Amino acid sequence: MFKKIYKEIKKYNTIVIARHIGVDPDALASQLALKESIKLTFPNKNVYAVGNGSSKFSYMGKLDKLEDFDNFLLIVLDTPDKKRIDYKDYSKASMTIKIDHHPFIEDFGGLEYIDDSASSTSEILMELLLKTKLKCNGEIAKLLYYGLVSDSNRFLFDSSTSKTFNLVSTYLSKYPLKLSDIYTNLYLRPLKEVRLEGYISLNMKVTENGVAYIILTNDIITKFKADSASAGNMINNFNFIDEVLVWIIVTEDVKNNNVRVNIRSRGPEINKIAEKYNGGGHPQASGARLSSIDEAEALISDIDYATENYIKKEMSKHENN
Ligand code: AMP
Repeated sequence: MFKKIYKEIKKYNTIVIARHIGVDPDALASQLALKESIKLTFPNKNVYAVGNGSSKFSYMGKLDKLEDFDNFLLIVLDTPDKKRIDYKDYSKASMTIKIDHHPFIEDFGGLEYIDDSASSTSEILMELLLKTKLKCNGEIAKLLYYGLVSDSNRFLFDSSTSKTFNLVSTYLSKYPLKLSDIYTNLYLRPLKEVRLEGYISLNMKVTENGVAYIILTNDIITKFKADSASAGNMINNFNFIDEVLVWIIVTEDVKNNNVRVNIRSRGPEINKIAEKYNGGGHPQASGARLSSIDEAEALISDIDYATENYIKKEMSKHENN
């Protein structure tokens, strides 16, 4: 499949690289890395990385302005379904390639490379660059490392396999990176966010089944002078709490007139439940978008029910052993 992808890249003079809405480091880093790699390999091609950015990740590089592209190859990264592509003209492409590590949702009608066992889309690109004639350099390697380290939560998840470590090892030996600089860029944050995290720790509720949740209204976000995305981005900071199996941050986003939900689990699979609420993701890391805060109660109750069932199943497994 990598060879087929390379062939298509070689064929087109104009290439647009898109990824999912609600930009995150893996989506952005993989997009910018692939753009740089194609430019390095084929300097005469026109390659555009498109979508809404975030000033938070400006250290990774810049996105391109939208234009009316003609006869172009579209490469969609890190996105399993069309409705989440951050590029509204996706159907105008002459050919589409999807490269993703989310569980399959729908075919985009072109080449599909999906590996839902990969830690990140950046990991898949590391392999693509090694196995084809696509070129790499230190800057591209750094971008891919940003994406991989961020989506694997610094190798904490089971998605970090021997393949992940082998790829990282290969890249680090070819392109020595100053890791402390990378982590500073990824994790440095303003004090107001740390204070908001303190608020979440103090105020989250935990159900009998170990589902922790917090609902952050616009008033709370404004009080901490934080932006609506920052609370959800802290979801991984609540990973290892003994009494908590599943944790949920619900944030009101007045600017976009919706309610953002971030969910993580050390127990039941949550992506199917997230899908019921205009969301999706991985079995243990998902997100959703609600139209109002009132909907959060039903979502939390569904997750609590799934967690209760999960605990019962685990208990009966132990009893039978
Ligand atoms: P997040 O909590 O935003 O880090 O997202 C965790 C995972 O869920 C990522 O793989 C996202 O792509 C996915 N995800 C987040 N929000 C949504 C959504 N509204 N619809 C589908 N997938 C989502």
